[in-house]
Order: sequence, then C-alpha cells, then structure tokens
Amino acid sequence: MKILLSNDDGIYSPGLRALADIASDLGEVWVVAPDREQSSVGHAISLSDPIRVAPYPFPDVHVAYAVGGTPADCIKLALTALMPEKPDIILSGINQGENTGISVIYSGTVSAATEGTISGVPSLAISLDSFTSERFAPAARIARQLAELTMRHGLPNDTLLNINVPDLPEEELRGIRITRQGLARWQETFDKRSDPRGRIYYWMDGHKLEMEEPDDSDGRALTDGFVTVTPIRLNMTNHEFISDLKTWSLEAFGVERAHRC
Ligand code: MN
Repeated sequence: MKILLSNDDGIYSPGLRALADIASDLGEVWVVAPDREQSSVGHAISLSDPIRVAPYPFPDVHVAYAVGGTPADCIKLALTALMPEKPDIILSGINQGENTGISVIYSGTVSAATEGTISGVPSLAISLDSFTSERFAPAARIARQLAELTMRHGLPNDTLLNINVPDLPEEELRGIRITRQGLARWQETFDKRSDPRGRIYYWMDGHKLEMEEPDDSDGRALTDGFVTVTPIRLNMTNHEFISDLKTWSLEAFGVERAHRC
C-alpha cells in the first residue's frame, strides 16, 4: 500500500511527522509537502512561477520532497510527476488549528485532500484544535483508524473526510461524531502598523464568532470534546435552490435575444 502525505504547515511541521509515524505502519510512505508554511492559501495553484522540488531528509519514510508551492501543487505534482503510480490514500495534516465551518474554504490542509479527491484518490484531512499544542498522538491514532476504514469501505468519488480532533488527552475525548460542515466563521481584524521606513501595512488577524449551531455541526461537536468526521463534497451546487432560481426566468434571457436577432 502506498500512502501520500502532505500538509499546509510545511514539511518541517511536527504534525506531519506524527502522521508519518503512524502511516509507516500501513505501507510505503511518500511525503510531498510545501517547503514553507502555506496555511490558508486554500486551493491556490502555481501557474506563473516555477515549482522547485528538493529531496528532504524525512526520517523513516520511503521518499520525501519539499516543494516550493501550495498544498494543491504538491498533490498535483506528486500524482502526475513524482510518483510512479497513484497512491492508495492521501492524508493531509496533522494541521495545527481546526478546520471547521467556513475555514474549510480557506484551508490548505483540506485543499490537499480536495486535490486528491479530484484525482480519484481517497483523501483525509486531519486537524488538531490548537495552534500551539503538539499533542498529536491521539489525532494520529484516529487518522490511522480512519485511513484503515477508508481503505476497507472506500469513499464516494467526489467526497473527502475532514477530521478535526480536540486538543485533549486521549482519555478525555468524548468519542467520534459524524458531523456536517457548520456555519462557524471568523471575524477579521486588521492591525495597522508602520514598517521601519514609516510605510503603513496591515496584518490580518481575527477570532472565531460564537454561533448557535446544532449538535452535529463540526464546530459545535469539536467544542463539545468530540472528534468530528465530516464528509465534504466537492460539488457546491445548491440543488434545493434551483427551483427557486428558475422562477427568476433567467432562461428567457437567451431566448428573447435570439428572437430579436
Ligand atoms: Mn496550517
């Protein structure tokens, strides 16, 4: 079994190391990860710049490459240029910082898994609910369990698993809850500063807004101490809204123009 690992925190991240430790029990591990932090770059890909690749001395894995690109670049490059054949599974993480609610859109961790899913490889994104903690062992064990279950059951073609783990000792985790992507979003703030030459710049920061959410939303369940597993679908069409949208008579637009011609 071939396992491809990536992340958005950078190839030197301890979360990636923790994932490699459990993955090496499962099979041949390939690490293809950004050579620097790429958190919150979303699904960006590099079209205007060259993508540099260098072997990286990652312990106890088959091969590791540090890539001068985004998480999505890493997966595209691994699947089409670096690996002789597609991996059986892709694991992205373990991210420092949860990825629930709207964060799924911005997350490079999720985007690496998204890119795998686009290419037909079952993919999991794993995040720890802390920006500073290095308590990765519980999350790594859960990632391993879910990787094994994913290999056994498979995933639908357009679906990845987004996993978030509370920053708690394993015995304090309340269990695993299957969740939906919630509404949680961030309220941004901009710190206005001046550089050494007196020019103004801004540094984006923010805090997560407190929201009333159902028990089975990812953000709420995570806060309540559950490991959350959310099946994320790539196709974002709002099927329920299509019938309402049809009442806008948009489709008459082309028809009327064709009549005028
Ligand atoms: Mn990150």
